[in-house]
Amino acid sequence: MSEVLFKANRFIARGLSRSLLPNVDASIVSFGFDDCPASAIETALPMLEAEGWRATVYVAYGLCGTVNHLGRHMEISDIVDIHNRGHEIADHTYSHLSSNTVSTREYIEDVERNQMALQELGLPRSRHFAYPFGHVSPPLKKALRKRFQTLRGVLSPTTPWQDANLLNAIRIYSGSRFDAALQQIEAAKTTPQWLNFFTHDVREKPSDFGCTPHEFQKIVNAVRDSGLRVMTVDDAFRKIVKRRHTS
Ligand SMILES: [Zn+2]
Repeated sequence: MSEVLFKANRFIARGLSRSLLPNVDASIVSFGFDDCPASAIETALPMLEAEGWRATVYVAYGLCGTVNHLGRHMEISDIVDIHNRGHEIADHTYSHLSSNTVSTREYIEDVERNQMALQELGLPRSRHFAYPFGHVSPPLKKALRKRFQTLRGVLSPTTPWQDANLLNAIRIYSGSRFDAALQQIEAAKTTPQWLNFFTHDVREKPSDFGCTPHEFQKIVNAVRDSGLRVMTVDDAFRKIVKRRHTS
């Protein structure tokens, strides 16, 4: 599929099968890690734990123990360990699939394979999902919304509302976009919103999809100093939805 077609698909998907979340009365910050590289587990999670915070780790089980442009990935035993440390294990397909390359049926089978593998480790079924590469199509969005409470994308907020089936996300990536993450924390102090941060590798020489330990600590410090609440995606979701039922 061409890049133009992919973007058209995502644009169309953005308008379909929406499940709008109620506005929050006070900002909430969630930290997500996709895939997930060992460097994030070994370096970034302890930084969050030092603040008493927990993250949401979007696991693509098939990547465990492999090495790619994000560096060495975590081992299967790490999944159980981080779950036991209170972090949330969410879904990211088994094979880190793009919706551009397989049918919706194959994609869903791969998601179920991921869930089976996680459940064999004794974990509960994941309640949240992130689209690998941010690739989404209208039929996929429709199929996944029945399986998960939220589906996260990779694009920054462009709308005042949040669609649970294509959540806005803020990249913590090195380079020119890094300051945008800091600015978003500043904005959240005065405009209530749910900030879904995410990144991949956290190491001295990160990929184009990660950041350095120093940069990650800078985000942690900014969130701490802002006084914003930090919750896993599931805790944040439960709190936001509860508001829908009480307001
Ligand atoms: Zn990914």
